[in-house]
Amino acid sequence: MHVSPTVAAISEPATLLMARRSRELRAQGRDIIDLSLGEPDHDPPAFALEAAHEALRGPWHKYPPVNGYLDLRQSIATKFERDNGLKYTADQIVVSTGAKQALINVVMSLVGPGDEVVIPAPYWVSYSEQVRLCGGTPVIVHSTLEENWKPPIARIAAAVNERTRLIMFSSPCNPSGSVLTKQELEELAEVVRRYPELYVIADEIYEHIVFDGKHESFAALPDMAERTITVNGLSKAFALTGWRLGYIGAPLWIAQAATKVQGQFTSGTNSIAQRVAKVCVEADPALLAPMRADFKRRRDLVLNELKKIEGWRCNVPQGAFYLLPDVSASIDGHTIKGSVDLSLYLLDTVGVSLVEGRSFGAEGTLRISYATSDDKLTEAMARVARGIAQLKGG
Ligand code: PLP
Repeated sequence: MHVSPTVAAISEPATLLMARRSRELRAQGRDIIDLSLGEPDHDPPAFALEAAHEALRGPWHKYPPVNGYLDLRQSIATKFERDNGLKYTADQIVVSTGAKQALINVVMSLVGPGDEVVIPAPYWVSYSEQVRLCGGTPVIVHSTLEENWKPPIARIAAAVNERTRLIMFSSPCNPSGSVLTKQELEELAEVVRRYPELYVIADEIYEHIVFDGKHESFAALPDMAERTITVNGLSKAFALTGWRLGYIGAPLWIAQAATKVQGQFTSGTNSIAQRVAKVCVEADPALLAPMRADFKRRRDLVLNELKKIEGWRCNVPQGAFYLLPDVSASIDGHTIKGSVDLSLYLLDTVGVSLVEGRSFGAEGTLRISYATSDDKLTEAMARVARGIAQLKGG
């Protein structure tokens, strides 16, 4: 019994692995606080759920078009112009089953054996594995806490060559919460201009969770619309992770290729989710302000608790709902060999689930998702502090 070499070469997402372990321990009666999943704890907006009820009564029960309903794609194009200053026509939009599928559609459309994909680290776990699935080589460009977990653009430029097909990044970033400034994006655009066959996936799924300053879209920079695939979706801003809806805006030929890929995998995205998506992308983003305020308060809460843990260091990220402390002081190389061991130790001894940083290209870190209640966060951080103190004592 053996799986294909392609599947053997990729790993289960570390985020989902920890969530699975937490569920298993809970099923055994353990009291686990799960800070491993990138999932907002807020309720979805009422209007989104009403749209779902409405759609159930309507004529939405048959196969939808592979790239999404035309009226939804028109609304997404309007959203891109309203929020991001991007001009896409409806046929440049592809609606998919989550941003995750939107990403793999594009990677599969552009990357093949011999191609390299430059991924600034820390990066979202699936980027490297999606590239491997398509036979490409992920080229990871590392950064440090002192650099705010953002590799300087010159370091990214040094990793790019004629074989580089794509640069993939998220801003705000999962797992670091870092936000790229307009100047950093402009410097990156300079690099892209030097290579005519180089494209950029700008994953903007956390665009509405920026605490200070403004989210900037890479595709809005001069000449970059033709070189960029802008990825977005409902999961984070609208707390609709389970509805599985993501989308891209892209040059027409890439949108067409992504549609072709999707046509062989899943066909059109769930019809009811698409009707929900229409009202979400049409909604005024101002309604997301309370959610953003919650996340900012929780970020500060956890940052404050982190100060109490001996040896752990953290920066102050500007977006998303993650913190990525450098925890290397708790890794001794014997009992705790790395961040994987440390995450398992904390899960076993104090029942807190965090994701190890190695899978994000940042060994020596743990990712804390603070998308949960203030009380749970306070309790979780007190437990982690206790666990780390015991580690020192033992
Ligand atoms: N991109 C980033 C950076 C993410 O953090 C996530 C989810 O965690 C996704 C894409 C996938 O989102 P979706 O739930 O829409 O598949």
